[in-house]
Amino acid sequence: MQAATNIQNQTHTHAFHKLKCKECGAEYELEAKNVCEVCFGPLEVKYDYSKLRQTVTRETIEAGPNSIWRYRQFLPVTSENPIDVGTGMTPLVRSQRLARRLGLKKLYIKNDAVNMPTLSFKDRVVSVAMTRAKELGFSTVSCASTGNLANSTAAIAAHAGLDCCVFIPSDLEAGKILGSLVYSPTLMAVKGNYDQVNRLCSEVANTHGWGFVNINLRPYYSEGSKTLGYEVAEQLGWELPDHIVAPLASGSLFTKIYKGFNEFKEVGLVEDKNVRFSGAQAEGCSPIAKAFKEGRDFIKPEKPNTIAKSIAIGNPADGIYAVEIANKTNGNIESVNDEEIIEGMKLLAETEGIFTETAGGTTIAVLKKLVEAGKIDPEETTVVYITGNGLKTQEAIQGAIGEPLTIDAKLDSFESALERSRTLERLEWQQVLV
Ligand SMILES: *Cc1c(COP(=O)(O)O)cnc(C)c1O
Repeated sequence: MQAATNIQNQTHTHAFHKLKCKECGAEYELEAKNVCEVCFGPLEVKYDYSKLRQTVTRETIEAGPNSIWRYRQFLPVTSENPIDVGTGMTPLVRSQRLARRLGLKKLYIKNDAVNMPTLSFKDRVVSVAMTRAKELGFSTVSCASTGNLANSTAAIAAHAGLDCCVFIPSDLEAGKILGSLVYSPTLMAVKGNYDQVNRLCSEVANTHGWGFVNINLRPYYSEGSKTLGYEVAEQLGWELPDHIVAPLASGSLFTKIYKGFNEFKEVGLVEDKNVRFSGAQAEGCSPIAKAFKEGRDFIKPEKPNTIAKSIAIGNPADGIYAVEIANKTNGNIESVNDEEIIEGMKLLAETEGIFTETAGGTTIAVLKKLVEAGKIDPEETTVVYITGNGLKTQEAIQGAIGEPLTIDAKLDSFESALERSRTLERLEWQQVLV
């Protein structure tokens, strides 16, 4: 009986069957490979959707684990027991106060600032890539990271018992460095920006035979981001939103939310709908936003200079696909400066009680900018993706959030401090009104 169930499960399990070049369509076996040998285009995992249509229903998904693995059949792994550290199924919060402040009627916040285990959306992609890395027989895993990916790779490698060496630019925030070191990986801090780190890692991947989650394992890794699409659809009661706003670094996350929504339509889990896709970048590193605005079909690489380090990729691998999706869906790609990013972080914290990092500040500031420009309809069901946690980028808001009132342990000291702070508040209000 048990054996029969397993065999049945196995025939259901492998809906993914090839790697396929996004540019020329050449097909490859399911190995650790990310670039087409014919045209150097990126490779992507292909699925048999007719098989998924027969085996997956809303009920089978709802009966699954409370993690990204409830969507296992849409992910490129064969294991019955994938690495499950509780990643995914983060809250989709119906916004009240931020929505009112912006003048939106139906705003939702997808909160990956509390994703497990390392408080960013990267735990999704790493859980998938590392499960696949084990299946392919890698004993050492690695990555080129802007910070969050290194945290995630180091933590999940520790959990899975894999050797780990991660690469970051040497000028990252203290919280991102500590958040990797605590798991005892080998941490290489490279004197250079992310694009230089990435180039170095491509060479190491060729010479050392390691599994780089976002280089030679990238086709599997990037599929993990689809779960940000699936979860939102399920949490909205098996319906797609009208409009999403998400941050863009390499552009991968953005394109995979799109793929996730389309797969759910294809398999009949949700009704067809044109979801508008809008993307957010920091002005100090906005090659995708510039390509979008200038109507170009190519990316001009940039040298990053912004506090939003986690999304500062000057030569984004999936940038052009992100531009295509924004155009095709009648969305937008907008950028904001560092001051607006800090304002965005404070706005989300003050109105919703969510402390996000600079990437989330960027996304909220772009949301605000798009609403003010009339590019988001107040009636649209809009989902904004918050992808990282503010405790990791404390430097960014130091000096912008006030200070504690230090008092003696005496009632009169408390009373006079309270009076002083109320007077200050009144003065600030008068200034606002003037
Ligand atoms: C990596 C990252 C992103 C975007 O990543 P893509 O390369 O575009 O997939 C967004 N937000 C945070 C916090 C990240 O760490």
